Amino acid sequence: MKPYKIITFPESILRVKAHHVKEVDLAEREVLGRMAETMYLSKGVGLAANQVGIDRQLVVIDTGEGLIKMVNPSIIKRIDSGMDEEGCLSVPKTEIKIARANEVVVQFLDENGAACQLNAKGLLARAIQHEIDHLSGKLIIDYLSPVEKLIFKAKNLIRY
Ligand code: ZN
Repeated sequence: MKPYKIITFPESILRVKAHHVKEVDLAEREVLGRMAETMYLSKGVGLAANQVGIDRQLVVIDTGEGLIKMVNPSIIKRIDSGMDEEGCLSVPKTEIKIARANEVVVQFLDENGAACQLNAKGLLARAIQHEIDHLSGKLIIDYLSPVEKLIFKAKNLIRY
């Protein structure tokens, strides 16, 4: 399968709220497969569909515990929280400290349309929260303080 090109900030599709998938069919399975290939080639641990220009709620994640493909993921429970540094394939060369839940329970459909529920901890829980942010148009830079945003803007010399 042909990998996608990863879209980077400040492209507007990254700010779009991705559409709910009504039915999981062959088209979704193909997109998920190509997204997984793109993620592995880019050495990322997760990728959301809008990062490859597709306006649908599709996510792939592999934090070393195996590939997970999610359709319409939503977090139904968050437990504890902790700070850690995060990067993003769509915001190159930027590491930002972000507070996230240490543990989450997430509901989604798998690539065959079956309803699934997953309890995730640590890096996997963090990656799930990061990718679900993407589906609602949110990026890691949104967690910066106003002063940090100014520094980011100066460093990147781009409109923000
Ligand atoms: Zn990202």
